[in-house]
Amino acid sequence: MRRRLIEELAQKGISDKAVLNVMNTIPRHFFLDNAFEEMAYQDKAFAIGEDQTISQPYTVAFQTQLLNVQKRDKILEIGTGSGYQASVLAMLGARVFTIERIKVLHLKAKNIFEILQLKGIRSYFKDGYKGLAEFSPFDKIILTASTSEVPTRLIEQLKVGGILIVPYGNQNETQKMMRLTKISENGDLKKEFFGDFRFVPMLKGRK
Ligand code: SAH
Repeated sequence: MRRRLIEELAQKGISDKAVLNVMNTIPRHFFLDNAFEEMAYQDKAFAIGEDQTISQPYTVAFQTQLLNVQKRDKILEIGTGSGYQASVLAMLGARVFTIERIKVLHLKAKNIFEILQLKGIRSYFKDGYKGLAEFSPFDKIILTASTSEVPTRLIEQLKVGGILIVPYGNQNETQKMMRLTKISENGDLKKEFFGDFRFVPMLKGRK
């Protein structure tokens, strides 16, 4: 089932072999509640509780491909959710710092990282708006919740030359996948847009 899903992703335009290989290895069914297990290898988003979703595999692949992950990259993820995206990044050899604002989800994901023995992931129960200044600067930052205002603190925590991927737009419409490249120390940004997506919104505070 997993192999078929990977073929489907390739057909839909995902061309990065490393991303496809890693997604072919990670057991996505670990990240879903038992009731949904047999659907884990469909190219669909699913509920993970607390009104949140695990992103569609195509979306995970697309965002990961845009991140152009290099081994040892220091990557900050906002929105751990199920932990699947963070696992993909870790399996690609990145050092992953992931933040979740909902405690139940944070704890659940942390448990799966232990089961899968993914050592390259550090997870935090925090409000992602603040980022993780103590571990900055990051090579890459990925937001897996949508926003129409990219927090300045996250831009500050990005290296010059680093990239930030964000589903950009209001929560009631589809969002554009935006890639920001930080091109100078004073925070000048190059902006690029790729395709339409639909994410849950980035929210303030912890729960
Ligand atoms: N990357 C996830 C998909 C997450 S859905 C996966 O692979 O499964 C988006 C997640 O972002 C939700 O779990 C939501 O609670 C979280 N989120 C929203 N606003 C946030 C914030 N300010 N800080 C941290 N996490 C946030």
